[in-house]
Amino acid sequence: MKVPILTYHATNIFGRDYASNNHVALADDLRTIARLGLRIVSAAQVVDVLLGEAAPSSVECAVALTCDDGSYFDWHDMEHPHFGPQRGFAGILRDFSGATGRCAHMTSFVIVSPAARAVLDVTCMAGRGWWRDDWWREAAREGVIAIENHSWDHNHATLPHTVQHEQRKGTFSTIASHVDADAEIRAAADWLDAHLAPCRSTLFAYPYGEWNDYLVREYFPHHGHEHRLRAAFTGEPHPVEADADRWLLPRYVCGHHWKTPAELERLLRDTTTR
Ligand SMILES: [Zn+2]
Repeated sequence: MKVPILTYHATNIFGRDYASNNHVALADDLRTIARLGLRIVSAAQVVDVLLGEAAPSSVECAVALTCDDGSYFDWHDMEHPHFGPQRGFAGILRDFSGATGRCAHMTSFVIVSPAARAVLDVTCMAGRGWWRDDWWREAAREGVIAIENHSWDHNHATLPHTVQHEQRKGTFSTIASHVDADAEIRAAADWLDAHLAPCRSTLFAYPYGEWNDYLVREYFPHHGHEHRLRAAFTGEPHPVEADADRWLLPRYVCGHHWKTPAELERLLRDTTTR
């Protein structure tokens, strides 16, 4: 098994071209994926194979797509204040499926706390109510975009208060005790399962791509009855292979680990079974 997982950020809109706009990049990358004869599978399918719950053949010649933080730009077509109309990620995936007949799927790791998102909407976006969760239930039911756990409040530096008990913010490496992990991870899983039932949250993506020994060696493996998660994703640039640690699954991040269509093509040629 060898599957690259590609990560996008729908709020990365700093211009209108591939390098400055993740919507342009995603649409272009889907064409590259199709041209190389690769299939798109879900991140959950990759985890199924890793955990021996599905056959490796189900993720052969495949790539999985994820995005982080969970704003309206994942789901809705939006009018950006500076860069005009933006097709939402969901629309880009549907356009691709419609044009090629191929399956398209993305897993969106969302910041769960409604209060935190209301603040981040102002501190990190245009303050127009674009970080609400009113699309999550429909997305979870429709199936093109799965909703998964990106923590309660991202322990985000711009929040006046986070659930990290010492207010050591702007990093996820300080989530290193049971009380903090419970507040950032288990509470987020509870909220998602309560609001998106019957869908269950089973995957986690580390905010800032940051983890620590407590989470990887103690909390995730030994408190499964509390958080109910099956795997956690970083932003380390490797494909998922059979010997991967389920609590440290790697992902490639658009704009960091590849910056052009040619770089993505090289990455995919090097990291997929073909
Ligand atoms: Zn994030």
